[in-house]
Amino acid sequence: MMLGYLLARQGVAVTVLEKHQDFFRDFRGDTVHPSTLELFHELGLLEDFLKLPHQKLRSLGGVFGDFHFQAISFGHVPTRCKFVALMPQWDFLNFLSSEARKFPNFDLRMGYEATGLLRDASRITGVEAQTPEGPVQIQADLVVGCDGRHSTVRRAAGLEVLETGVPIDVLWFRISRHADDPDDLFGIVNYGRALVLINRGGYFQAGLIIRKDSFPQIKECGLNAFRETLAKLAPYLRGRAGEVESWEQIKLLTVQINRLQTWYRSGLLCIGDAAHAMSPAGGVGINLAVQDAVATANLLAGPLREGRVTHSQLRAVQQRREFPTRFTQFFQLKAHQGLVRTFSNPGPIEAPRLLKIAVGIPGVPQLLGRAVGIGIRPEHVRGAPKRRAASAMALGVGAAALTAVGVFALAGLLRRRTVV
Ligand SMILES: Cc1cc2nc3c(=O)[nH]c(=O)nc-3n(C[C@H](O)[C@H](O)[C@H](O)COP(=O)(O)OP(=O)(O)OC[C@H]3O[C@@H](n4cnc5c(N)ncnc54)[C@H](O)[C@@H]3O)c2cc1C
Repeated sequence: MMLGYLLARQGVAVTVLEKHQDFFRDFRGDTVHPSTLELFHELGLLEDFLKLPHQKLRSLGGVFGDFHFQAISFGHVPTRCKFVALMPQWDFLNFLSSEARKFPNFDLRMGYEATGLLRDASRITGVEAQTPEGPVQIQADLVVGCDGRHSTVRRAAGLEVLETGVPIDVLWFRISRHADDPDDLFGIVNYGRALVLINRGGYFQAGLIIRKDSFPQIKECGLNAFRETLAKLAPYLRGRAGEVESWEQIKLLTVQINRLQTWYRSGLLCIGDAAHAMSPAGGVGINLAVQDAVATANLLAGPLREGRVTHSQLRAVQQRREFPTRFTQFFQLKAHQGLVRTFSNPGPIEAPRLLKIAVGIPGVPQLLGRAVGIGIRPEHVRGAPKRRAASAMALGVGAAALTAVGVFALAGLLRRRTVV
Protein backbone atom coordinates (compact mmCIF):
# COMPACT_ATOMS: atom_id res chain seq x y z
CA MET A 1 0.00 0.00 0.00
CA MET A 2 2.87 2.28 0.81
CA LEU A 3 4.47 1.70 -2.58
CA GLY A 4 1.15 2.24 -4.33
CA TYR A 5 0.70 5.52 -2.50
CA LEU A 6 4.23 6.73 -3.23
CA LEU A 7 4.15 5.85 -6.91
CA ALA A 8 0.71 7.35 -7.45
CA ARG A 9 1.91 10.49 -5.73
CA GLN A 10 4.71 10.68 -8.26
CA GLY A 11 2.38 10.41 -11.21
CA VAL A 12 2.74 6.71 -11.97
CA ALA A 13 -0.43 4.80 -12.77
CA VAL A 14 -0.73 2.11 -10.13
CA THR A 15 -3.06 -0.82 -9.68
CA VAL A 16 -2.97 -2.51 -6.31
CA LEU A 17 -4.49 -5.95 -5.95
CA GLU A 18 -5.59 -7.30 -2.56
CA LYS A 19 -7.03 -10.78 -2.43
CA HIS A 20 -9.29 -10.07 0.54
CA GLN A 21 -12.31 -7.80 0.47
CA ASP A 22 -11.02 -5.84 3.46
CA PHE A 23 -7.91 -5.46 5.61
CA PHE A 24 -9.50 -6.93 8.68
CA ARG A 25 -7.15 -9.82 9.45
CA ASP A 26 -6.05 -11.51 12.62
CA PHE A 27 -3.14 -9.99 14.48
CA ARG A 28 -0.01 -9.90 12.39
CA GLY A 29 1.87 -7.05 13.99
CA ASP A 30 0.58 -3.65 14.97
CA THR A 31 3.82 -1.75 15.30
CA VAL A 32 4.37 1.53 13.44
CA HIS A 33 7.95 2.49 14.07
CA PRO A 34 9.45 5.97 14.53
CA SER A 35 11.03 5.72 11.06
CA THR A 36 7.62 5.02 9.46
CA LEU A 37 6.07 7.88 11.44
CA GLU A 38 8.86 10.10 10.14
CA LEU A 39 7.98 9.11 6.58
CA PHE A 40 4.38 10.12 7.29
CA HIS A 41 5.70 13.45 8.50
CA GLU A 42 7.69 13.85 5.28
CA LEU A 43 4.50 13.14 3.34
CA GLY A 44 2.40 15.56 5.41
CA LEU A 45 0.23 12.72 6.73
CA LEU A 46 1.46 12.42 10.30
CA GLU A 47 -1.01 14.68 12.05
CA ASP A 48 -4.06 12.91 10.60
CA PHE A 49 -2.49 9.49 11.12
CA LEU A 50 -1.98 10.11 14.82
CA LYS A 51 -5.65 11.05 15.20
CA LEU A 52 -6.43 7.34 14.77
CA PRO A 53 -6.65 5.39 18.04
CA HIS A 54 -3.25 4.04 19.05
CA GLN A 55 -1.00 3.45 22.04
CA LYS A 56 2.46 4.94 22.32
CA LEU A 57 5.26 2.59 23.22
CA ARG A 58 8.14 4.71 24.52
CA SER A 59 10.33 2.00 25.99
CA LEU A 60 10.47 -1.76 26.27
CA GLY A 61 11.19 -3.61 29.44
CA GLY A 62 12.21 -7.17 30.13
CA VAL A 63 12.31 -9.68 32.96
CA PHE A 64 14.90 -12.44 32.82
CA GLY A 65 14.46 -14.80 35.78
CA ASP A 66 13.91 -12.29 38.56
CA PHE A 67 16.07 -9.59 36.95
CA HIS A 68 13.98 -6.62 35.70
CA PHE A 69 15.57 -4.24 33.22
CA GLN A 70 14.82 -1.56 30.66
CA ALA A 71 15.90 -3.05 27.36
CA ILE A 72 15.04 -0.34 24.87
CA SER A 73 14.27 3.35 25.05
CA PHE A 74 12.95 5.33 22.09
CA GLY A 75 13.41 8.64 23.92
CA HIS A 76 16.45 9.66 21.87
CA VAL A 77 15.61 8.48 18.36
CA PRO A 78 16.35 11.32 15.93
CA THR A 79 12.77 11.57 14.63
CA ARG A 80 9.74 13.66 15.52
CA CYS A 81 7.94 10.77 17.20
CA LYS A 82 9.99 9.16 19.93
CA PHE A 83 7.71 6.16 20.23
CA VAL A 84 6.33 3.17 18.38
CA ALA A 85 2.63 3.67 17.60
CA LEU A 86 0.64 0.51 18.27
CA MET A 87 -2.24 0.46 15.84
CA PRO A 88 -4.13 -2.41 14.18
CA GLN A 89 -2.84 -3.02 10.67
CA TRP A 90 -6.34 -2.56 9.23
CA ASP A 91 -6.48 1.02 10.56
CA PHE A 92 -3.02 1.71 9.14
CA LEU A 93 -4.00 0.28 5.74
CA ASN A 94 -7.42 1.90 5.59
CA PHE A 95 -5.78 5.24 6.32
CA LEU A 96 -3.09 4.83 3.69
CA SER A 97 -5.48 3.52 1.05
CA SER A 98 -7.91 6.38 1.62
CA GLU A 99 -5.04 8.84 1.13
CA ALA A 100 -3.86 6.98 -1.98
CA ARG A 101 -7.36 7.04 -3.48
CA LYS A 102 -7.11 10.81 -3.62
CA PHE A 103 -4.80 10.33 -6.61
CA PRO A 104 -6.77 9.66 -9.80
CA ASN A 105 -4.01 7.38 -11.07
CA PHE A 106 -4.30 5.04 -8.06
CA ASP A 107 -6.55 2.02 -8.48
CA LEU A 108 -7.10 -0.36 -5.55
CA ARG A 109 -8.92 -3.57 -6.42
CA MET A 110 -10.12 -5.48 -3.40
CA GLY A 111 -11.00 -9.16 -3.78
CA TYR A 112 -8.48 -9.56 -6.62
CA GLU A 113 -6.17 -12.51 -6.04
CA ALA A 114 -3.10 -12.78 -8.25
CA THR A 115 -2.84 -16.36 -9.42
CA GLY A 116 -0.11 -16.23 -12.06
CA LEU A 117 2.10 -14.09 -14.24
CA LEU A 118 1.77 -13.05 -17.86
CA ARG A 119 4.86 -13.33 -20.02
CA ASP A 120 6.14 -12.16 -23.34
CA ALA A 121 9.15 -14.40 -24.00
CA SER A 122 11.29 -13.98 -20.87
CA ARG A 123 9.71 -10.68 -19.80
CA ILE A 124 6.89 -10.57 -17.23
CA THR A 125 4.17 -8.35 -18.60
CA GLY A 126 1.39 -8.55 -16.04
CA VAL A 127 -0.65 -10.80 -13.79
CA GLU A 128 -3.57 -13.15 -13.96
CA ALA A 129 -6.01 -12.64 -11.15
CA GLN A 130 -9.12 -14.30 -9.80
CA THR A 131 -11.77 -11.69 -9.04
CA PRO A 132 -15.38 -11.73 -7.81
CA GLU A 133 -16.37 -11.38 -11.49
CA GLY A 134 -14.10 -14.20 -12.68
CA PRO A 135 -10.53 -14.41 -13.97
CA VAL A 136 -8.86 -11.35 -15.48
CA GLN A 137 -5.50 -10.47 -16.98
CA ILE A 138 -3.89 -7.18 -16.09
CA GLN A 139 -0.98 -5.90 -18.17
CA ALA A 140 1.73 -3.82 -16.54
CA ASP A 141 5.13 -2.29 -17.19
CA LEU A 142 6.21 -3.65 -13.83
CA VAL A 143 4.70 -6.14 -11.41
CA VAL A 144 5.73 -5.73 -7.79
CA GLY A 145 5.16 -8.77 -5.62
CA CYS A 146 4.26 -7.51 -2.13
CA ASP A 147 2.13 -10.52 -1.31
CA GLY A 148 3.82 -11.56 1.88
CA ARG A 149 5.73 -14.59 3.01
CA HIS A 150 3.62 -17.09 1.07
CA SER A 151 4.03 -15.01 -2.09
CA THR A 152 2.28 -16.38 -5.16
CA VAL A 153 4.24 -13.98 -7.32
CA ARG A 154 7.67 -15.13 -6.30
CA ARG A 155 6.66 -18.74 -6.73
CA ALA A 156 5.21 -18.07 -10.18
CA ALA A 157 8.41 -16.25 -11.12
CA GLY A 158 10.53 -19.18 -9.96
CA LEU A 159 12.67 -17.01 -7.69
CA GLU A 160 14.98 -19.02 -5.44
CA VAL A 161 14.29 -18.74 -1.70
CA LEU A 162 17.20 -19.09 0.75
CA GLU A 163 15.76 -20.49 3.98
CA THR A 164 17.39 -19.97 7.35
CA GLY A 165 16.50 -22.53 10.00
CA VAL A 166 14.52 -20.92 12.81
CA PRO A 167 14.24 -22.73 16.17
CA ILE A 168 11.06 -21.04 17.43
CA ASP A 169 7.37 -20.57 16.75
CA VAL A 170 5.00 -18.14 18.50
CA LEU A 171 1.52 -18.69 19.93
CA TRP A 172 -0.47 -15.44 19.76
CA PHE A 173 -3.57 -14.77 21.86
CA ARG A 174 -5.27 -12.01 23.82
CA ILE A 175 -5.67 -11.59 27.52
CA SER A 176 -7.29 -8.70 29.34
CA ARG A 177 -5.16 -5.94 30.78
CA HIS A 178 -5.69 -4.08 34.03
CA ALA A 179 -4.77 -0.45 34.64
CA ASP A 180 -2.02 -1.38 37.10
CA ASP A 181 -0.31 -3.89 34.77
CA PRO A 182 3.04 -2.89 33.22
CA ASP A 183 2.33 -0.56 30.30
CA ASP A 184 5.32 -1.06 28.04
CA LEU A 185 5.77 -4.22 26.08
CA PHE A 186 7.29 -6.75 28.40
CA GLY A 187 9.38 -9.74 27.47
CA ILE A 188 9.52 -12.33 30.22
CA VAL A 189 11.95 -15.26 30.13
CA ASN A 190 11.79 -17.97 32.78
CA TYR A 191 10.93 -21.63 33.43
CA GLY A 192 12.07 -22.68 29.96
CA ARG A 193 9.58 -20.33 28.25
CA ALA A 194 9.38 -16.76 26.96
CA LEU A 195 6.31 -14.54 26.92
CA VAL A 196 5.79 -11.23 25.15
CA LEU A 197 3.02 -8.92 26.36
CA ILE A 198 2.09 -6.01 24.11
CA ASN A 199 -0.07 -3.39 25.76
CA ARG A 200 -3.11 -2.73 23.55
CA GLY A 201 -5.06 -0.66 26.04
CA GLY A 202 -7.81 -2.92 27.37
CA TYR A 203 -5.95 -6.11 26.54
CA PHE A 204 -2.51 -7.59 26.04
CA GLN A 205 -1.58 -9.05 22.69
CA ALA A 206 0.37 -11.94 24.14
CA GLY A 207 2.91 -14.16 22.40
CA LEU A 208 4.26 -17.33 23.98
CA ILE A 209 7.50 -18.29 22.27
CA ILE A 210 7.91 -22.04 21.94
CA ARG A 211 10.34 -24.47 20.37
CA LYS A 212 9.71 -24.96 16.68
CA ASP A 213 7.00 -27.51 15.93
CA SER A 214 6.21 -28.08 19.62
CA PHE A 215 2.60 -26.80 19.51
CA PRO A 216 1.14 -30.32 19.19
CA GLN A 217 2.91 -31.38 22.43
CA ILE A 218 1.72 -28.25 24.20
CA LYS A 219 -1.82 -29.08 23.16
CA GLU A 220 -1.42 -32.62 24.41
CA CYS A 221 -0.51 -31.28 27.85
CA GLY A 222 -3.86 -29.49 27.92
CA LEU A 223 -5.16 -25.97 28.40
CA ASN A 224 -4.70 -26.04 32.16
CA ALA A 225 -0.96 -26.59 31.75
CA PHE A 226 -0.89 -23.74 29.21
CA ARG A 227 -2.66 -21.41 31.63
CA GLU A 228 -0.33 -22.44 34.44
CA THR A 229 2.65 -21.54 32.25
CA LEU A 230 1.21 -18.05 31.79
CA ALA A 231 0.59 -17.62 35.48
CA LYS A 232 4.11 -18.75 36.36
CA LEU A 233 5.68 -16.34 33.89
CA ALA A 234 3.48 -13.36 34.79
CA PRO A 235 1.85 -14.00 38.19
CA TYR A 236 -0.42 -10.96 37.81
CA LEU A 237 -2.14 -12.85 34.96
CA ARG A 238 -3.07 -15.78 37.20
CA GLY A 239 -6.69 -14.73 37.69
CA ARG A 240 -7.05 -14.04 33.96
CA ALA A 241 -5.38 -17.08 32.40
CA GLY A 242 -8.82 -18.73 32.35
CA GLU A 243 -9.84 -16.27 29.62
CA VAL A 244 -8.02 -18.62 27.25
CA GLU A 245 -10.91 -21.06 26.99
CA SER A 246 -10.01 -22.99 23.86
CA TRP A 247 -7.16 -23.63 21.46
CA GLU A 248 -9.19 -21.75 18.85
CA GLN A 249 -8.23 -18.53 20.62
CA ILE A 250 -4.55 -19.26 20.06
CA LYS A 251 -2.97 -18.65 16.66
CA LEU A 252 0.26 -20.38 15.73
CA LEU A 253 2.81 -18.23 13.92
CA THR A 254 5.28 -20.50 12.18
CA VAL A 255 8.27 -18.25 12.35
CA GLN A 256 10.32 -18.04 9.18
CA ILE A 257 13.43 -16.20 8.17
CA ASN A 258 14.30 -16.34 4.51
CA ARG A 259 15.19 -14.17 1.58
CA LEU A 260 15.31 -14.37 -2.16
CA GLN A 261 18.63 -14.89 -3.86
CA THR A 262 17.48 -12.46 -6.55
CA TRP A 263 14.56 -10.11 -5.90
CA TYR A 264 13.71 -9.41 -9.55
CA ARG A 265 13.19 -10.70 -13.05
CA SER A 266 12.61 -8.74 -16.21
CA GLY A 267 9.33 -6.88 -15.52
CA LEU A 268 9.01 -8.05 -11.92
CA LEU A 269 10.27 -7.11 -8.45
CA CYS A 270 9.55 -8.56 -5.00
CA ILE A 271 9.76 -6.51 -1.80
CA GLY A 272 8.67 -6.85 1.83
CA ASP A 273 8.04 -10.33 3.19
CA ALA A 274 7.75 -11.62 -0.39
CA ALA A 275 11.47 -10.88 -0.77
CA HIS A 276 12.50 -11.61 2.82
CA ALA A 277 10.25 -13.12 5.50
CA MET A 278 11.19 -11.69 8.87
CA SER A 279 10.86 -13.14 12.35
CA PRO A 280 8.65 -11.12 14.71
CA ALA A 281 11.77 -10.54 16.90
CA GLY A 282 12.08 -6.80 17.38
CA GLY A 283 8.78 -6.25 15.59
CA VAL A 284 10.57 -4.90 12.54
CA GLY A 285 8.91 -6.74 9.62
CA ILE A 286 6.43 -3.98 8.86
CA ASN A 287 9.12 -1.36 9.11
CA LEU A 288 11.36 -3.21 6.69
CA ALA A 289 8.52 -3.67 4.20
CA VAL A 290 7.72 0.04 4.37
CA GLN A 291 11.38 0.96 3.91
CA ASP A 292 11.57 -1.34 0.86
CA ALA A 293 8.57 0.49 -0.58
CA VAL A 294 10.19 3.90 -0.13
CA ALA A 295 13.46 2.76 -1.71
CA THR A 296 11.53 1.23 -4.62
CA ALA A 297 9.54 4.40 -5.25
CA ASN A 298 12.68 6.55 -4.98
CA LEU A 299 14.55 4.42 -7.50
CA LEU A 300 11.79 3.43 -9.93
CA ALA A 301 9.21 6.23 -10.10
CA GLY A 302 11.23 8.07 -12.75
CA PRO A 303 11.82 5.02 -14.98
CA LEU A 304 8.16 4.00 -14.59
CA ARG A 305 7.02 7.40 -15.72
CA GLU A 306 9.12 6.81 -18.81
CA GLY A 307 7.44 3.43 -19.30
CA ARG A 308 10.38 1.05 -18.99
CA VAL A 309 12.33 -0.28 -16.04
CA THR A 310 15.66 -1.93 -16.77
CA HIS A 311 17.32 -4.88 -15.10
CA SER A 312 19.96 -2.68 -13.55
CA GLN A 313 17.31 -0.38 -12.05
CA LEU A 314 15.62 -3.39 -10.45
CA ARG A 315 18.98 -4.66 -9.24
CA ALA A 316 19.56 -1.27 -7.62
CA VAL A 317 16.52 -1.83 -5.38
CA GLN A 318 17.89 -5.16 -4.16
CA GLN A 319 21.35 -3.66 -3.67
CA ARG A 320 19.88 -0.84 -1.61
CA ARG A 321 17.71 -3.05 0.62
CA GLU A 322 19.58 -6.34 0.89
CA PHE A 323 22.12 -5.18 3.46
CA PRO A 324 19.52 -3.87 5.96
CA THR A 325 17.60 -7.13 5.50
CA ARG A 326 20.56 -9.43 6.05
CA PHE A 327 21.85 -7.39 8.97
CA THR A 328 18.45 -7.46 10.69
CA GLN A 329 17.94 -11.16 10.03
CA PHE A 330 21.39 -11.92 11.47
CA PHE A 331 20.43 -10.30 14.79
CA GLN A 332 17.03 -11.97 14.79
CA LEU A 333 18.76 -15.33 14.45
CA LYS A 334 21.15 -14.57 17.28
CA ALA A 335 18.20 -13.56 19.48
CA HIS A 336 16.43 -16.85 18.70
CA GLN A 337 19.50 -18.91 19.44
CA GLY A 338 20.02 -17.14 22.79
CA LEU A 339 16.39 -17.66 23.71
CA VAL A 340 16.31 -21.33 22.80
CA ARG A 341 19.31 -21.98 25.03
CA THR A 342 17.19 -20.89 27.99
CA PHE A 343 14.43 -23.37 27.02
CA SER A 344 16.49 -26.32 28.24
CA ASN A 345 16.08 -25.21 31.87
CA PRO A 346 12.48 -25.72 33.04
CA GLY A 347 13.21 -24.25 36.47
CA PRO A 348 13.65 -20.64 37.56
CA ILE A 349 16.58 -19.15 35.66
CA GLU A 350 19.25 -16.59 36.48
CA ALA A 351 19.94 -13.69 34.15
CA PRO A 352 23.37 -14.10 32.50
CA ARG A 353 26.03 -11.77 33.91
CA LEU A 354 26.69 -10.42 30.45
CA LEU A 355 23.07 -9.30 30.13
CA LYS A 356 23.21 -7.57 33.50
CA ILE A 357 26.39 -5.75 32.55
CA ALA A 358 25.21 -4.82 29.06
CA VAL A 359 21.89 -3.28 30.06
CA GLY A 360 23.63 -1.40 32.89
CA ILE A 361 25.94 0.45 30.49
CA PRO A 362 24.64 4.00 30.08
CA GLY A 363 23.28 4.59 26.61
CA VAL A 364 22.63 0.95 25.70
CA PRO A 365 18.79 1.14 25.87
CA GLN A 366 18.97 4.31 23.75
CA LEU A 367 21.27 2.63 21.23
CA LEU A 368 18.93 -0.35 20.99
CA GLY A 369 16.01 2.07 20.67
CA ARG A 370 17.68 3.56 17.64
CA ALA A 371 18.47 0.15 16.13
CA VAL A 372 14.87 -1.07 16.52
CA GLY A 373 13.02 2.21 16.00
CA ILE A 374 14.97 3.41 12.97
CA GLY A 375 16.84 0.36 11.72
CA ILE A 376 19.71 0.17 9.33
CA ARG A 377 19.87 2.53 6.36
CA PRO A 378 16.58 4.39 6.91
CA GLU A 379 14.90 5.62 3.76
CA HIS A 380 13.45 9.07 3.15
CA VAL A 381 10.81 10.09 0.67
CA ARG A 382 12.54 11.74 -2.24
CA GLY A 383 11.30 15.21 -3.05
CA ALA A 384 8.65 14.94 -0.35
CA PRO A 385 6.38 17.95 -0.39
CA LYS A 386 5.24 18.31 3.20
CA ARG A 387 1.61 18.60 2.23
CA ARG A 388 -1.45 16.44 1.76
CA ALA A 389 -1.98 14.23 -1.25
CA ALA A 390 -5.08 16.11 -2.33
CA SER A 391 -3.36 19.43 -2.45
CA ALA A 392 -0.44 17.92 -4.31
CA MET A 393 -2.86 16.77 -6.94
CA ALA A 394 -4.56 20.10 -7.03
CA LEU A 395 -1.18 21.43 -7.95
CA GLY A 396 -1.13 19.10 -10.87
CA VAL A 397 1.27 16.51 -9.60
CA GLY A 398 -0.84 13.46 -9.96
CA ALA A 399 -1.98 13.15 -13.48
CA ALA A 400 1.01 11.98 -15.45
CA ALA A 401 0.24 9.14 -17.73
CA LEU A 402 2.31 6.37 -16.37
CA THR A 403 1.57 3.58 -14.21
CA ALA A 404 3.07 1.70 -11.46
CA VAL A 405 1.76 -0.71 -9.07
CA GLY A 406 1.73 -1.24 -5.71
CA VAL A 407 0.33 -2.55 -2.69
CA PHE A 408 0.46 -5.11 -0.36
CA ALA A 409 -0.36 -8.00 -1.81
CA LEU A 410 0.71 -7.99 -4.77
CA ALA A 411 1.09 -7.53 -8.01
CA GLY A 412 -0.64 -6.55 -10.69
CA LEU A 413 -0.14 -4.34 -13.28
CA LEU A 414 -0.27 -2.67 -16.27
CA ARG A 415 0.54 -1.86 -19.67
CA ARG A 416 1.36 1.68 -18.79
CA ARG A 417 0.56 0.73 -15.31
CA THR A 418 2.42 -0.69 -12.39
CA VAL A 419 0.84 -3.46 -10.47
CA VAL A 420 1.54 -4.00 -6.85
C1 LIG B 1 1.36 -13.25 13.77
C2 LIG B 1 2.34 -12.24 13.25
C3 LIG B 1 2.81 -11.26 14.08
C4 LIG B 1 3.71 -10.31 13.60
N1 LIG B 1 4.11 -9.30 14.42
C5 LIG B 1 4.82 -8.29 13.92
C6 LIG B 1 5.08 -7.10 14.68
O1 LIG B 1 4.65 -6.98 15.84
N2 LIG B 1 5.77 -6.09 14.09
C7 LIG B 1 6.24 -6.19 12.81
O2 LIG B 1 6.87 -5.24 12.33
N3 LIG B 1 6.02 -7.30 12.07
C8 LIG B 1 5.30 -8.32 12.59
N4 LIG B 1 5.04 -9.41 11.81
C9 LIG B 1 5.60 -9.47 10.46
C10 LIG B 1 4.83 -8.52 9.57
O3 LIG B 1 3.44 -8.82 9.59
C11 LIG B 1 5.37 -8.61 8.15
O4 LIG B 1 6.79 -8.54 8.15
C12 LIG B 1 4.84 -7.46 7.30
O5 LIG B 1 3.43 -7.39 7.39
C13 LIG B 1 5.28 -7.64 5.85
O6 LIG B 1 4.56 -6.75 5.04
P1 LIG B 1 4.24 -7.11 3.53
O7 LIG B 1 3.46 -5.96 3.02
O8 LIG B 1 5.48 -7.52 2.85
O9 LIG B 1 3.34 -8.42 3.58
P2 LIG B 1 1.95 -8.68 4.32
O10 LIG B 1 1.72 -7.72 5.43
O11 LIG B 1 1.90 -10.13 4.61
O12 LIG B 1 0.88 -8.34 3.19
C14 LIG B 1 0.66 -9.19 2.12
C15 LIG B 1 -0.71 -8.85 1.56
O13 LIG B 1 -0.85 -9.52 0.33
C16 LIG B 1 -2.14 -10.09 0.27
N5 LIG B 1 -2.02 -11.22 -0.67
C17 LIG B 1 -1.38 -12.37 -0.45
N6 LIG B 1 -1.41 -13.13 -1.55
C18 LIG B 1 -2.07 -12.42 -2.50
C19 LIG B 1 -2.41 -12.66 -3.84
N7 LIG B 1 -2.07 -13.81 -4.45
N8 LIG B 1 -3.09 -11.71 -4.53
C20 LIG B 1 -3.44 -10.55 -3.94
N9 LIG B 1 -3.15 -10.27 -2.64
C21 LIG B 1 -2.46 -11.20 -1.93
C22 LIG B 1 -2.45 -10.48 1.69
O14 LIG B 1 -3.86 -10.61 1.88
C23 LIG B 1 -1.89 -9.29 2.44
O15 LIG B 1 -2.81 -8.25 2.54
C24 LIG B 1 4.17 -10.39 12.29
C25 LIG B 1 3.73 -11.40 11.44
C26 LIG B 1 2.80 -12.31 11.91
C27 LIG B 1 2.29 -13.38 10.97
